[in-house]
Order: sequence, then structure tokens, then C-alpha cells
Amino acid sequence: MKAFSLTATLIVVTSVFRLMAADVPEPTVEPKIINPGPPPSDAIVLFDGKDLSKWQSAKEGEAKWDIKDGAMVVNNTGSIQTKEGFGDCQFHIEWATPTEVKGEGQGRGNSGIFFQGRYEVQILDSYENKTYFHGQAGSIYKQHVPLVNASRKPGEWQTYDIIFRAPKFNEDGSVEQSGRFTVLHNGVLVQDHAEILGRTTHIGAPKYQKHPDKEPILLQDHGDPVRFRNIWIRPL
Ligand code: MG
Repeated sequence: MKAFSLTATLIVVTSVFRLMAADVPEPTVEPKIINPGPPPSDAIVLFDGKDLSKWQSAKEGEAKWDIKDGAMVVNNTGSIQTKEGFGDCQFHIEWATPTEVKGEGQGRGNSGIFFQGRYEVQILDSYENKTYFHGQAGSIYKQHVPLVNASRKPGEWQTYDIIFRAPKFNEDGSVEQSGRFTVLHNGVLVQDHAEILGRTTHIGAPKYQKHPDKEPILLQDHGDPVRFRNIWIRPL
């Protein structure tokens, strides 16, 4: 009798496990093989230190930033943006604020990366430089404070690895799903799937306005000679 109930129990338990396993479908698509690089072999290289062919002025005409020692340098000719539009993506950039420290707060090594031309991940010399917390390096400008300040010294190269999830809009222009940012600053998590609240701005409350799925990525000319190199993107 005991042996029977043990067998019965085993059958029941096995069946339950089989049912549970059935809820998890067998994957059928093998992951694509890539060379991780850097840059990864499936990335679009936006700047490799040689030319600005993937960029144009955010106003009109050609991008006019200087190229020096394999880096593009902000030179007061205005912001630049990618010729191509992008939505969801993984984005890598290396940047350095001026070695010679000038100004303070927002006036020190300020630039920024505007995804879809609207949503800014702030670039700032935040090494021993106080400013409002949701405006320092690694912040989603005026929306989210970075989890930590992982800044290197002025003049040193720093990295951002950013996962951008674009907002989705309904036909009537209302927001179906907010955008999201995950940001690693020098390899350290500073934004963890942070919800984008709308266009990042210093004027009034952030608001969403329906826009195309793919829009250029803009690098800000805020008047400080910030340098950039090794820029690549993987559309997701
Ligand atoms: Mg900025």
C-alpha cells in the first residue's frame, strides 16, 4: 500500500513538473554570432575619429565641429545631429570635458546627447562641481538624478553606454508607453530603466508630443570645447 502511494505521488509530481515545463516554450532561433569588438560587428559606427560624414548641423548644412587627435571637438558652430534617424537603441560614446577648468555649475564642460532630438542624457564636468542634482553628469536632464556620481577628472576620457527605449504614441497623439533610459557611466549604472517624463527642458514641466518613430541623435554645443570619440549605435 505504501509502495503504491509513493508511486502515485511520484507520477503526480512528475506530471506537475511536465505541465510547468510546457509553459516555457523551447527556443527555436539561435542567437546571431557577432564579434563583440569594440565596436561590435553589428553596430553602426557614427564616428571613428576620421570624419563627420554621419553628422550634419542641427540647423542646416554640414557639421562643422573640429576633428583633432581622433576626437570631434565642440567649437561654437552649433549642435550637430546624425543624418539617420533612430528609435530604440544601444548607444556608446566616449567624451571628455576640457582639461583646463573654466566656469562652474552648468557652465563647466556642458554638452549632452539628445535622443530623438528631445530626450537629453546630460554631459557635464561633474568632478567636484556642484549643480542641481538632476542636471549633473549622468542625469536625465531635469528629470532623473544619477544613482551615483561616477565622474572622472576634467580632461580624462569617460564613457556612456546607454539603452534607449523610445516612447510610443497612440494615433490621437496620447502616450501609449513612456520612453526609458538605462545609462552606465564609466561602466557604473547611473540610470536604471528610468522613465522619460517627456521632452527634457528647462522651461516648465516636461511634456510629450507625438513624433516620428525614428529621429536623429543630437550632440549639444553648449559653448564648452567638449571632445567625443568612438561613437557607435546598435538599433534594437
Ligand atoms: Mg547639456
